[in-house]
Amino acid sequence: MSMFVDTATILVKAGDGGRGAVSFRREKYVASGGPDGGDGGKGGDVVLIADDNLSTLADFRYKRKYEAQNGAPGAGARKYGKSAPDLTIRVPRGTVVREAASGRLIADVSDDAPVVIAKGGKGGWGNVHFATPTRQTPRFAKNGAPGESLEVRLELKLLADVGLIGFPNVGKSTLLSVVSMARPKIANYPFTTLTPVLGVVRLQEGTSFVMADIPGLIEGAGEGVGLGHEFLRHVDRCRMLVHVIDASGSEGRDPLEDFAAINRELAVFDPALAERPQIVAANKCDLTDEETLARLRAHFEGQGIPFFPIMAAIAEGTDDLIRAVAAKLSTLEPIRRYEPEPAPVEDFSAGKRDFTLTVEDGVYIIEAPWLLKIMETIDPDAYDSLQYFQRVLRQSGIIDALEDAGIEKGDTVSIYDVEFDYVP
Ligand code: GDP
Ligand code: MG
Repeated sequence: MSMFVDTATILVKAGDGGRGAVSFRREKYVASGGPDGGDGGKGGDVVLIADDNLSTLADFRYKRKYEAQNGAPGAGARKYGKSAPDLTIRVPRGTVVREAASGRLIADVSDDAPVVIAKGGKGGWGNVHFATPTRQTPRFAKNGAPGESLEVRLELKLLADVGLIGFPNVGKSTLLSVVSMARPKIANYPFTTLTPVLGVVRLQEGTSFVMADIPGLIEGAGEGVGLGHEFLRHVDRCRMLVHVIDASGSEGRDPLEDFAAINRELAVFDPALAERPQIVAANKCDLTDEETLARLRAHFEGQGIPFFPIMAAIAEGTDDLIRAVAAKLSTLEPIRRYEPEPAPVEDFSAGKRDFTLTVEDGVYIIEAPWLLKIMETIDPDAYDSLQYFQRVLRQSGIIDALEDAGIEKGDTVSIYDVEFDYVP
């Protein structure tokens, strides 16, 4: 069995915001100055970044939990707490990230830009924010907002223009090694390729493309047990396929049967994949005769499939093959990128929800992580939006709790970094 690991599920937790400080200025001859407690620092984000030195997700088998640090608390003299650094997780380029619970696609880590998958919480306000003409010594500050936490599924979908497909031992790795600088393992037995190997193929005209040698044809494939579907995930993005066959039919194989078997598997896995343009590279021509080659050529060209006899081991015929591939690629769409799917719009206005209410110095402080999500979407200048916010506060039970706690018209309600006067 291939030891190649191309999926993993991990838990990520962004840092919580630091707590705001309660502090008062100390001045000579003044018993107590005004409030000067600074804000807490922001919690670290969890960030994914593409690393071309990685080709598998194996590391994620051993470490499954990734936690960014919390922001530091604020301090006196209006000092901000230090924001925590982001936690950067390196993944192979082409890793697609989904929310484990829903399967929703969150990110495609294919480009160089770092991708935030869990946002750190903002720091809480220090008491310096809570001074008003009627409340000159606020003895409270706020907690930082919690960092996001979620379970994600990582899935490697290589970024390659061309995928090499074909039965074990037909010469795929050899072909890649002679047309690029890539050095995949080559050996005269199946299953030598354990991790995908990408090679950049450069043409004299200055163009280039990326070709992938993909592992994972499972043991027993030759006996018709079925080809592992694992590896098919990796050809998913390939713009076209070079289908390598052993023209000599060595090891008792029939190249036409092999060709049909692989294509059947492609179609079962994903019909769209079977539609991808293919070019046939008939390898090991040194071990066959002209008659066999002519028969194979007639067979493939009769179906409109370009046919290139090669001897990969001595790079014979490979230039023509590569030029044909480049010409075909120039007619095809660029490599697919997966777009993140928007989070479903949850109706927060339905039913009771958890929150905490504390009253400090006449300020009514609400904390509820789920409210943070809505507050990001609320537009304080839009009537509809405020109406919705009101409804959420009512349906969740927050308004009732405020009234039970004795809130009166004009009192301050504070929800994370939003403050407003209560209007019944
Ligand atoms: P893969 O499993 O498809 O990646 O096949 P490899 O590239 O590892 O090659 C399998 C075996 O076929 C190795 O022993 C190669 O040396 C051999 N081979 C590759 N190309 C040729 C060729 O053109 N002629 C002959 N006779 N053998 C070849
Ligand atoms: Mg190989």
